Amino acid sequence: MKKAFAEASSHAYIEGKGSGPSRNTTFPIMALFKRPSLKGLGLKKNDMPEGLWHKCPECGQISHEVDLKQRKRVCQKCDHHFTMIASERIEMIADPGTFQEIDAGLDSVDGLGFKNYLEKVKSYQQKTGLKEAIVTGRAKIGGRPAVIGVMDFRFLGASMGSVVGEKVTRAIELATEEKATVVLFSASGGARMHEGILSLMQMAKTSGALARHHLAQLPYISVLTHPTTGGVTASFSTLGDVILAEPRCMIGFAGPRVVKETTHQNLPPGFQTAEFMMEHGLVDRIVHREEMRETLSRLIRYMSRA
Ligand SMILES: [Zn+2]
Repeated sequence: MKKAFAEASSHAYIEGKGSGPSRNTTFPIMALFKRPSLKGLGLKKNDMPEGLWHKCPECGQISHEVDLKQRKRVCQKCDHHFTMIASERIEMIADPGTFQEIDAGLDSVDGLGFKNYLEKVKSYQQKTGLKEAIVTGRAKIGGRPAVIGVMDFRFLGASMGSVVGEKVTRAIELATEEKATVVLFSASGGARMHEGILSLMQMAKTSGALARHHLAQLPYISVLTHPTTGGVTASFSTLGDVILAEPRCMIGFAGPRVVKETTHQNLPPGFQTAEFMMEHGLVDRIVHREEMRETLSRLIRYMSRA
């Protein structure tokens, strides 16, 4: 029976390959393992529904968009925290119905004449529905007033140009004026190269605003999310009175390859993860997304005078 099956199948594979049976069956058997192409199924890439299923980059678990949204974009198998868009994060931490956006209309200008910069900004505006890489506004967290800012990595890698720096600064100044807590969620590729030195200036500007906020004895909580790097790490995101981070997120200044090439040293395991940073004193606490709202409202309660 087995033999008959083997013969039948070998015939099936070599059929049409010249005259008579041949011993060379490698090609037809390999063809069995080939993944059918989209073309073969009569589908184009554009026909596939976009963003419905997500594969966890850590454990490979496939999750449906609806499930993932309900679980605050945390993998059910390994607790990997997927990146979040600004609106989702605001919904996650602000008391329902309390968020009022500020400075929504600020728009980038091409101060240095960088080729195609404004076209790029425009295309990201259309893609994300955002005007810039950060959303700021007043909100209440646990019933107490706060001014929050949430960076959105989809917008040009949430790089900090003049508008991002200005929005962060204005948010801090508003909080100082209204005696509220500042809560900033960082995620950034660093300074925006299209704006050159103008983007580097934002580091000093945001830090200055935080210094005045600190002199007024008002709290600032910084939350680092995946990935926080470059000029954002080197300015407002690591100046918090309390610095929180999401589990296993990447925190650093330059990328690991650049650090390795510059220092000519092998990097320790877990380098640039939130856990590594906590062990070395940069981060105060790693907070799971499920506990973020409660942790923030408890911290604001502890640190507010009223
Ligand atoms: Zn996972």
